[in-house]
Amino acid sequence: MPRSGCGIGGLTLAACISKFSEGRVAVDIYEAEPEVPTFGAVGGISSGVAIWKHSWQVLQDLGLEEEIVRQGFDVPTDGASRGPIFRKSDQSTEGYDFHTHILPYRPLGLHRLTLLEILRSKLSPDCKVHPSKRLERYEVSSEGFINLVFSDFEITTADILVGADGVHSATRQSMFRYMGDGYEQYILPVFNGTIAYRGMLPKTKLVETYPDHRALDGPKLVRIFPELTIYCLKCTHVVSHPVGPSIGIGCFRYNPDTEGQAHTGPSVADVPTQEATSHFETWEPDIRSLIQHVESYSAWAIHVVKPLPCYAQGSVVLIGDAAHAMTPHQGVGAAQAIEDAHVLGRLLAHPSAVKEKIQLILKLYEELRLPPTQEAAEKSHITGMMYEFNHPSFLFNDPSHPDGPSREELKALGNTVGISFVWLADSQLEEEWAEAEARLKEICEKPE
Ligand SMILES: Cc1cc2nc3c(=O)[nH]c(=O)nc-3n(C[C@H](O)[C@H](O)[C@H](O)COP(=O)(O)OP(=O)(O)OC[C@H]3O[C@@H](n4cnc5c(N)ncnc54)[C@H](O)[C@@H]3O)c2cc1C
Repeated sequence: MPRSGCGIGGLTLAACISKFSEGRVAVDIYEAEPEVPTFGAVGGISSGVAIWKHSWQVLQDLGLEEEIVRQGFDVPTDGASRGPIFRKSDQSTEGYDFHTHILPYRPLGLHRLTLLEILRSKLSPDCKVHPSKRLERYEVSSEGFINLVFSDFEITTADILVGADGVHSATRQSMFRYMGDGYEQYILPVFNGTIAYRGMLPKTKLVETYPDHRALDGPKLVRIFPELTIYCLKCTHVVSHPVGPSIGIGCFRYNPDTEGQAHTGPSVADVPTQEATSHFETWEPDIRSLIQHVESYSAWAIHVVKPLPCYAQGSVVLIGDAAHAMTPHQGVGAAQAIEDAHVLGRLLAHPSAVKEKIQLILKLYEELRLPPTQEAAEKSHITGMMYEFNHPSFLFNDPSHPDGPSREELKALGNTVGISFVWLADSQLEEEWAEAEARLKEICEKPE
């Protein structure tokens, strides 16, 4: 079963099939980049991935807990724990913290590359990785086989194609081109009007100029939440969090006039520090000192995938960002890719899953995963609107707010952001899988 893309979704799928198929399903993984594991949607930046309750149960089901603990990460825990601090910073004098987030669950924060490496180590010999192999498109033969056409002109035939090839997915492009009139709008991702300037700052550099800086507190590993600060302003927010000896910084700038427009230029590009910091010159010293010492930034034009009408078409199926790339404001894109891969992997690896019923099995995956993933994308979007005072209940730019929001208003905003994270403490993985398995058996045992 070929699969294009070797990011978090693709590797989780291959690890799941490796564990549960007992050699019944062979997987070929085609990765465009020369090195695997590669860096997927956050190229080069040693960023963290938040693992909330549901995706943690998936990792446990895949047998990864032992290795994660062995590498020194704290496993997630149920119950309230301290989360990010929200700070008002859009003033030349010192700003103030307006909210300390109490999370409903303490998630695991993993380095993205660590997760990719652990997943890679779980692949069985039935999974073959083919680096430097970029899928251009697929074609469906008159016999119903899928022909994968690569950029080096090689063509390979497959029974099933899983597009795990990220936001700019070639698989999704082919799928919706095939579907024809009315579906063109789903071929390409959409620019959401936000540029994220992302960079890393060595802590030693900040210590020289600002030894008491809040961003310096933090342990050796990625601990995403208690040390994370979110600095808020209209149409802008900055996130800082410790990553080992460095501080990861993301400066998000949203321009409503460009939302939905074609983005001119590359979706990721290195930019001089001045380009990123120019937007924050009037902010409090805390943030200026933090962002000006970053040596280089990469500018990410945030693209999202419009809510798709389907994730499966014939024997081709989409998972992860290829199906539902979303804004990063709740840090759940990777978790959704993991959860898609788990459902699809367990269905395909199941002993009842017969080749003749593959198209129905892929439709079952779609039925199970399309609603929750599109809901997650919507929640992430709404949270982003709150961070940047663009949510209809927290606009703060009307004539009644000549001096900006009051402390009470910001506190109310903080509480609402808090509520928007509650769903991430919930999971019924076992029950959901039992139901999915029953549906699968029903499909596979039903005579043609
Ligand atoms: C700025 C930013 C910040 C983010 N922060 C977070 C966060 O904090 N937490 C979180 O959970 N998520 C975050 N995300 C989202 C997260 O990175 C993605 O949701 C996640 O990586 C999706 O995994 P994926 O496997 O579907 O796709 P990807 O990680 O994009 O992997 C796709 C893989 O396919 C390969 N590929 C692409 N095209 C082809 C082709 N044509 N042929 C063969 N191979 C191909 C790529 O090289 C890559 O290896 C962020 C995203 C962005 C843009």
